[in-house]
Amino acid sequence: MDAFTPDPPAWTETATHAHTFACPQCGAIEKEAQSVWVNRFAPVSTEERRRKWQEFYQCSCSKVWWGWSNDRPPNEFADRRKSGDDDDQDIFLGYF
Ligand SMILES: [Zn+2]
Repeated sequence: MDAFTPDPPAWTETATHAHTFACPQCGAIEKEAQSVWVNRFAPVSTEERRRKWQEFYQCSCSKVWWGWSNDRPPNEFADRRKSGDDDDQDIFLGYF
């Protein structure tokens, strides 16, 4: 599984936006997803001048959903970084 391929996998076509960053069908969090694909090639600048992008997840219940990367709950890797360090990519790659 390569979460960073340039082309979206076929399963992302049916994704629905999950505003809570969890499966809208069964409530499973993103860490329990079976597949993930990250749309790193179309980042969007946020109000805080930080980049965000779509993260697609294929849940174990077969539901496909996506959320904005900046809606993902903090994790131990991101928390380890000092605030003010704007190297988002390193934070993300360390997440997997
Ligand atoms: Zn689910």
